[in-house]
Amino acid sequence: MRIKDILADGRPSVSFEVFPPKKDAPFAPVKEAVARLARQKPSFMSVTYGASGNAQANTAAIASFVQSCGVTALAHLTCLSATRESIAGEVAALMDAGVENVLCLRGDMPKDSASASDGPFRHAVDLVRTLRESTSFCLGGACYPECHPECEHMEDDIRRLREKVDAGLDFVTTQMFFDNNIFYRYLSKLRDRGVTVPVIAGIMPVTNGKQIARICKISGTYLPSRFKAIVDKFGDHPSAMLDAGVAYATEQIIDLFANGINAVHVYTMNKPEVAERIMANLRGIVGNDEN
Ligand code: FAD
Repeated sequence: MRIKDILADGRPSVSFEVFPPKKDAPFAPVKEAVARLARQKPSFMSVTYGASGNAQANTAAIASFVQSCGVTALAHLTCLSATRESIAGEVAALMDAGVENVLCLRGDMPKDSASASDGPFRHAVDLVRTLRESTSFCLGGACYPECHPECEHMEDDIRRLREKVDAGLDFVTTQMFFDNNIFYRYLSKLRDRGVTVPVIAGIMPVTNGKQIARICKISGTYLPSRFKAIVDKFGDHPSAMLDAGVAYATEQIIDLFANGINAVHVYTMNKPEVAERIMANLRGIVGNDEN
């Protein structure tokens, strides 16, 4: 099913994210996690592409497995070091896998940034144009409530987002944020600047206190003092951090739904237990009562 149609029906939508196995790593643990996540009946499940050293070649295979579990798949695709031929190959693999939805991304700039941007795809918008012209995929893209770290001014970042949407995006998904007010202000700016496609709010349940400070530093994500206190207090105690991280993410999601946001993407990262606990907290709200 196309994600734009899922979002159009207006019911609260909760989607999940998984990453494929690294090169030469076994598929079984990832498939097990996907099958468990699928039992929570997410609106769709996205499969990352090449992030954190995961094999790009495995994205289509895991997206195909997601669909075999009865859940719509969203395949991520990055383009920075790609050629026209390599993108055509990925498109063919996704079509063979029956995937209808693609998240068009640039990918992170490697340290040797000069060589990375030599190819035909310098920005995600280049991939959007290519896929819009040559395929009938439903297309999504990324956006940044706290501005993309390489961009100095939010207004420039939003202008580029608008170009990306105008090139053919059907929806956008945000980078994680821990303060919903930042998201509400951003959404209002997007609407003012003519970005009218659905915006899916990205929520990261933090279960590893040590990682989060580093991730926030790299991505420029603001850590509210209330959240920082939780990490300082429970960050060294995995079971306490799991309880607190699930509770914090649940509160964020309930606040979003209460304020009229219909679509939330949970960065579940192959952790079914986290998704199960969050969905149990939302049972009456998202209406999957039979879970
Ligand atoms: P772009 O939209 O190209 O923007 C990147 C930067 O370039 C921004 O600063 C923007 O303002 C600027 N820019 C855009 N267009 C122009 C232009 N025409 N001229 C000048 N500047 C321009 N990474 C992975 O490797 N794999 C994944 O699976 C993955 N999934 C992600 C999912 C989500 C929801 C998000 C938010 C990020 C994901 N990422 C992933 C990370 C992403 O690749 C990085 O954030 C990357 O740095 C930017 O990607 P983008 O698609 O937003 O790039």
